[in-house]
Amino acid sequence: MNSELDPIAAIATAPGRGGIGIVRLSGRDLAALAQGLLGTAAARLRPRHALFTAFLDEQGHAIDEGLALLFPAPHSYTGETVLELQGHGGPVVLRLLLARCLELGRSIGLRVAEPGEFTRRAFLNDRLDLAQAEAVADLIDAGTAAAARGALRSLQGEFSRAAQALAQELTELRALTEATLDFPEEEIDFLRAADAAGRLDRATRDLAQLRGRAAQGALLRDGVQVALLGAPNVGKSSLLNALAGAEVAIVTEHPGTTRDRVERVIEIDGLAFNIIDTAGIRDTQDPVERLGIARSHAAAAEADLVIALVEDGQEQPAEAELGPRLTVHNKIDLTGTAPGVRDGAVYLSARTGAGIAALRTQLLLRAGYSGAAQGETAILARARHLHALDRAHGHLQAAALHCAAGAAQLELFAEALRLATDALGEITGTVSTEDLLGQIFGRFCIGK
Ligand code: GDP
Repeated sequence: MNSELDPIAAIATAPGRGGIGIVRLSGRDLAALAQGLLGTAAARLRPRHALFTAFLDEQGHAIDEGLALLFPAPHSYTGETVLELQGHGGPVVLRLLLARCLELGRSIGLRVAEPGEFTRRAFLNDRLDLAQAEAVADLIDAGTAAAARGALRSLQGEFSRAAQALAQELTELRALTEATLDFPEEEIDFLRAADAAGRLDRATRDLAQLRGRAAQGALLRDGVQVALLGAPNVGKSSLLNALAGAEVAIVTEHPGTTRDRVERVIEIDGLAFNIIDTAGIRDTQDPVERLGIARSHAAAAEADLVIALVEDGQEQPAEAELGPRLTVHNKIDLTGTAPGVRDGAVYLSARTGAGIAALRTQLLLRAGYSGAAQGETAILARARHLHALDRAHGHLQAAALHCAAGAAQLELFAEALRLATDALGEITGTVSTEDLLGQIFGRFCIGK
């Protein structure tokens, strides 16, 4: 296990060629290293000022030239001293620069950073709380503009502040309760005097509201997995094209062309739908096609929603129930059926586009997304956060029962409040474990 105290270095820009490439270093004392790398120019480094200079190799020859930026502790991303070297964005020159830094830093134990280690240090040095650190990764990974905005709201602390305010309210209520426990003769009136029930009620409502915003954010972050199922030739590829507005799948007249899965992400009101077009489900002896069919079952089992596509007016094949499904009747241009939604099924034509808008609306509804307007209050959250909020909610419900039971259960009431506060603390990382930190930061990219 690497030490949290070692100075670290990494190429912070994405692999490949680019206009600019950045090597970033973080540690307690980088003065000797800067001196070795920049030579006499190191004396001109001023905190947070860009210095144009050469980055030197062992012989004092330039490896590259660019900007050196020094952020002395604690006013840096990690809370340690950070040195950023912005050179040219070529893989060879960046590797040379990183190697030179590692050589210069050998005496102080400089090593290559692990994924997410800069952000992990920011967390350990109280520059960011856990929800904010996660938001950094979510912002980098955001697949839609709405998801990026939600991540930025979490990064700026909206989620953390809401969770902390709730925890604070519950802590105050518990402190009052515990103070009363020391004066048994006052217990009877305490709950009423402190309006414990009223305060608990408000906290529970605030928690539910936060849960709603976080759930919308989790949807924005993760997107919706949709499996598109149907017999060969019902128009799965055509529907996918109509939804995506571009040719992704091959459309032919011969049944059984879509042998493998074709995945396509489409965006509706800022929400990402990952639509998987699978091989047509039918009895077949062709081994390749059979493989495709097995995969389509697997995709359906994992999907949040299954679109069962049928040809309008044709007999619906009986199929195993594979989770939440939306039946869509295609080719209404051939039958003359009106487009739209009836009895929970959508009627459309992938060829003419009639009814496609109705399908998009249905997809949003089925996903439980309350629309672009709500998206603007969504805070990007992860399953971990939703679980913490749910546990806090469970403890508040228990607290309400203890509260109703009156003085006899004051201690249990206080304990339930404490458990709810702890669950909320897991969101910001006031309560955390090494395992959890490993899981969270291990998924970052190197150099962040
Ligand atoms: P898949 O095998 O389910 O992927 O079906 P395809 O998308 O390849 O479509 C099979 C055939 O049905 C193609 O000839 C399409 O042009 C045709 N088709 C698809 N959608 C429609 C539709 O809405 N109306 C009509 N008339 N034909 C369609």
